[in-house]
Amino acid sequence: MSIGDTWPGLLLLVAILALLLYGQIRQRVALHKWLLAPDASAVPDGVGAWRAVFSQLQRLHKDEQSAYQALANSLERFRLAAEALPDGVILLDGDQHIEWLNATAAHHFALDAWRDIGTQIGHLIRHSDFHQLLASDRRGGPPEPLLLRLNGNGPEQIVSIALIPYAGTGTLLLSRDVTERARSEAMRRDFVANVSHELRTPLTVISGFIEQFTGATPPSGDAAQRFYRLIAEQSTRMISLVADLLTLSRLENDTQPPVDEIIPMDELLDTLCAEAEALAEGKLTVVIGRNSAGKLRGSSHEIRSAFGNLVSNAVRYTPAGGTVTLAWQVVEGCPVFSVSDTGIGIPAEHIPRLTERFYRIDKGRSSATGGTGLGLAIVKHVLVRHQGRLTIQSEIGRGSVFSAVLPASRCVVAQAATL
Ligand code: ADP
Repeated sequence: MSIGDTWPGLLLLVAILALLLYGQIRQRVALHKWLLAPDASAVPDGVGAWRAVFSQLQRLHKDEQSAYQALANSLERFRLAAEALPDGVILLDGDQHIEWLNATAAHHFALDAWRDIGTQIGHLIRHSDFHQLLASDRRGGPPEPLLLRLNGNGPEQIVSIALIPYAGTGTLLLSRDVTERARSEAMRRDFVANVSHELRTPLTVISGFIEQFTGATPPSGDAAQRFYRLIAEQSTRMISLVADLLTLSRLENDTQPPVDEIIPMDELLDTLCAEAEALAEGKLTVVIGRNSAGKLRGSSHEIRSAFGNLVSNAVRYTPAGGTVTLAWQVVEGCPVFSVSDTGIGIPAEHIPRLTERFYRIDKGRSSATGGTGLGLAIVKHVLVRHQGRLTIQSEIGRGSVFSAVLPASRCVVAQAATL
């Protein structure tokens, strides 16, 4: 056989090899392209062994994608959980740069996640106490939380800040708004101090007089009578104070709604009017103004105590010759009991605080007129328990109007004189 005879065969072989090579190169190019932008739904069509390779790759890619999605889902859930926390959370790296923070922390410290992530926290929260906390040694455990007054994004808040070491060098900063707790603790401390002070004053007076009686020359005659009278006055003052304290504590601790009694307002107005006249000792005119002749639904004991406090205040803060007017009317369906006086009046800035326990404008005058400083606090509690509210209008030197406004549901009979 000559070369001329084998030539076509060789050419055919070369052509087949070239075709095979071309096929391989195409598959490789397709693989390369796919690897640059893998898409599990569009794997290249493989031929021969390539088909197995491509379908294996597709499976691996799908598995990887679902693992990635699961991880992304749990990260998102973790982020949402941290966002939902009522506390602020900031993750700090070993150099105290912010790695992540939730919305509550952003609110507490007036931070912005987009702007402040990556910044050292000490540059953003400029409080020397906070810097000291950051510099504290946390290797032996978390330091004591710090209380800071912050303006954040809104009104001033008292925020408790705790640093907790985590993952080696990282630090978890937790912030909690404790404004209400701090306020009620301060109120409790003030209350204890006020009660102690209020009780100490009459006790000091009483013990002073008793010392006189047990001394070398005990008082006698008129002096002794005067001393006995003063001792009796101070004891009465203490008894009133303790009685008001007990009333207030009962009202505050009573979680049950007030008993539903039908209170005839005619009778109550007459009783309160007689009490006011007795207290005024003829120095004031006490009148019943408008009377809608209705009945009120509520606890007669509590309502009587609240309305009685308003009447006794009007008498005590109205100078001789003045007038105190009691009124009961139904305004737009709501029962309203009001006490107007022509007394000393109240400066406007004091009005919002009058129902705080022991809040007095003129301490000396209140004590001199037998006040315990708890009367309006009791009124407020009774009204709140009856879903009512207290309104106060006053003009210095001209007088005041205290009105107990109750809900329409507490009005049993709304008759004439309805406004
Ligand atoms: P107090 O026992 O001191 O009267 P209250 O709680 O009853 O305590 O009242 C609080 C303060 O409100 C009083 O100390 C007084 O300064 C003021 N106040 C209450 N009622 C009147 C009124 N009718 N006229 C003027 N001031 C009043």
